[in-house]
Amino acid sequence: MKIPASILHDLKGIAGFDEQDFIAAHNAKPPVSVRKHPIKGVNLFHSEQTVPWCPGGVYLPERPVFTLDPSFHAGAYYVQEASSMFLHHLLKDVIAERKNLRVLDLCAAPGGKSTLIASMLDEESLLISNEVIRPRAAILEENISRWGYMNTWVTGNDPRDLGKLSGYFDIIVVDAPCSGSGLWRKDAAALNEWSEGNVTMCSARQQRILADVWPALKENGILVYATCSYSPIENEAVLDWLAANYEVKSITSNTEQFPGIVASISPQKKMNCYRFFPGKVAGEGFFIATLQKNEQSETLRISKTKSARNQKTQDAASYLTDCKETIFLQTKEDSYSAIRASHEADMQLLQKAVYIRKTGLEAGVPTAKEWLPAHDIALSIEISKTITGVETTREQALHFLKREDMRIDNLAKGWYVVRYNGLGLGWIKALGNRVNNYLPKNWRIRMDIE
Ligand code: SAM
Repeated sequence: MKIPASILHDLKGIAGFDEQDFIAAHNAKPPVSVRKHPIKGVNLFHSEQTVPWCPGGVYLPERPVFTLDPSFHAGAYYVQEASSMFLHHLLKDVIAERKNLRVLDLCAAPGGKSTLIASMLDEESLLISNEVIRPRAAILEENISRWGYMNTWVTGNDPRDLGKLSGYFDIIVVDAPCSGSGLWRKDAAALNEWSEGNVTMCSARQQRILADVWPALKENGILVYATCSYSPIENEAVLDWLAANYEVKSITSNTEQFPGIVASISPQKKMNCYRFFPGKVAGEGFFIATLQKNEQSETLRISKTKSARNQKTQDAASYLTDCKETIFLQTKEDSYSAIRASHEADMQLLQKAVYIRKTGLEAGVPTAKEWLPAHDIALSIEISKTITGVETTREQALHFLKREDMRIDNLAKGWYVVRYNGLGLGWIKALGNRVNNYLPKNWRIRMDIE
């Protein structure tokens, strides 16, 4: 791999940068890592080497074909490069100290950071996982459904729209679109597309994104800024720009226990930040910093009016464990979503300002005869233990995931969750003479499974 001379030049003098090491690492194989779902993934990957800064993070000895693993489709783990899992270390103290949080993951697709954050929050907190680029938002939605948390919602907005939610968020994560040099080792196309001009353009866009969303952060709220770029003008310089234009306090984190992670500091405003260089850590290039907003924000008043309840949703309630705290609201033409009752006011507020793509768990559609359960429920950690399921072999599970007809003998008529190692993959309906596969079309595996 031929590293552009200009980036080697820009990195000279940056804490922790060692040119020889850097070049050698870019010619080595990248490690493969996944992060286990804290509930669904407990039985997986016990003998693997762990990622030291993130519980559930493990390195795999080689890259399996994830598409052919039903546990992957069940959301038992998320494939994520290890450096970016450091977000867990930075957020854990912030989250432990504050309860009932409203968190925004502003640039969220495909969902690596959002699934990590979702697993850290208590159920009273709410995560808004946002992605402005439409096709990417669809992938995000799928990954959020797979992860299965009712308190993760998906929006599809420009940062400026979210900025209208003055003082609403306790934490905002901006994993900014960037020139992508940190991913060269994993993705050769990122190297071919890289140019100095693009780095400059990204830096300006990063500042614009931060300026646009800044009003939505509460006073004393936490901003996490991250990129997968090595370029100082997308990293330290952006922090310096933030500190020059807003009242902020830099936040440090103890990284002594993680040799290889480089604690750095921005040249002008002395903002703390963390750099990840392949060769120094088992992970890809990454940059991350945390700071606190030290200025007043106008705060939106949240006034709650009760949304219209519908008797039909009583049938849906039996699908979920904690239906006492859950309400069902009509969110699309004929379908209903389940949210925690304590998030009803949030929904009303957000609905006015932003485009909500997914409000809690999609619960299904009532018909004259029955409740048609939504795919989300089958994947959710909230699904009631009393829902009957059919345990499948790996081969049966893959046929289900290809959306093929299933042959299961002696199945009484009704709805069943298809399970693999106890984890839900989707719904089938037994009709007596045949079994219908209710996997959504766009979730179908397109790969040859033989
Ligand atoms: N956080 C994601 C994860 O961990 O899986 C990765 C995010 S990626 C580094 C940056 C995201 O920002 C992309 O999904 C991209 O579509 C989105 N993006 C692009 N332009 C944007 C803009 N102007 N404002 C906000 N987000 C943007």
